[in-house]
Amino acid sequence: MTASQKRERLAISRPTVGAAGKTGTWRVFKPVVDKERCNACGLCATYCPDAVINDELEIDLNFCKGCGICANECPKKAIEMVREEK
Ligand code: SF4
Ligand code: SF4
Repeated sequence: MTASQKRERLAISRPTVGAAGKTGTWRVFKPVVDKERCNACGLCATYCPDAVINDELEIDLNFCKGCGICANECPKKAIEMVREEK
């Protein structure tokens, strides 16, 4: 088998927790989960590009970039992006 045949074909991202480092103070919006609405499907964690949502669906705000992808993908609309207080 050649090297190109061994190469994986699917475009699956494998983000590393906080790959871009700690967020600092520049984030404008942060995700807040409404646990009453959440059905624990885990899609938010699957889509988070910074892998900052753990198995307990807790969001590590030290690394969250506030991109809003989790809120956008949540089928229950359980995540609200809330403006940061400075
Ligand atoms: S995607 Fe929404 S419903 Fe699913 S675990 Fe995340 S917050 Fe909960
Ligand atoms: S806002 Fe972006 S970085 Fe933060 S938890 Fe949601 S998907 Fe991850």
